[in-house]
Amino acid sequence: MDIPIAALNQFSYCPHRCWRMFCAGEFVDNQYTVEGTSLHERVHTLGEGMREETWQVRAIWLRSDRYQLVGKADLVETSDGQTYPVEYKRGRRGEFGNDALQVCAQALCLEEMLGRSVSQGYLYYAQSHQRQLVEFSAALREETIAAIASVRQLLLTGLMPPAIYGPRCRGCSLREQCLPRAAGQLQRYQEAV
Ligand code: SF4
Repeated sequence: MDIPIAALNQFSYCPHRCWRMFCAGEFVDNQYTVEGTSLHERVHTLGEGMREETWQVRAIWLRSDRYQLVGKADLVETSDGQTYPVEYKRGRRGEFGNDALQVCAQALCLEEMLGRSVSQGYLYYAQSHQRQLVEFSAALREETIAAIASVRQLLLTGLMPPAIYGPRCRGCSLREQCLPRAAGQLQRYQEAV
């Protein structure tokens, strides 16, 4: 079973959200997701070519047979003999590490497709117009590979992880469907009886 790279980002953000999107087929837009979709649509229509000394390919599909991963990269650049992914995100910067995990998964695919190592990539945040360097450290690679296994398990079993209320819920577009505080209270009540 191929794992969508985007599911890794969602799982890292919140396993319950990942379940809702990729098992229950639920998706609701909010301001953040609409901005993100619009950004990706713009990115994905820009084409490919040289920019100064850098070769840029946009909207390229990546896959890994080894990890059974598939997904589209916003941008892959080659500069000074190095090829690396660049993922576009809305906002000023990532808060929770899920975006870094997504770009690391893209690097795992690129390494397999190119047959050479990819040591770093970038996250580009549209609001701040800043590129954030992501080093593909051993720890980040391990975290990404563990997330692939967890998402595979989630998709195979369909078992729903609990909704756990926390800082991530504030910007979550599924908050009104999920009601994480009520879900937590219900779970505590069930555990008490
Ligand atoms: S509201 Fe919170 S618990 Fe529910 S899906 Fe979103 S992030 Fe996860």
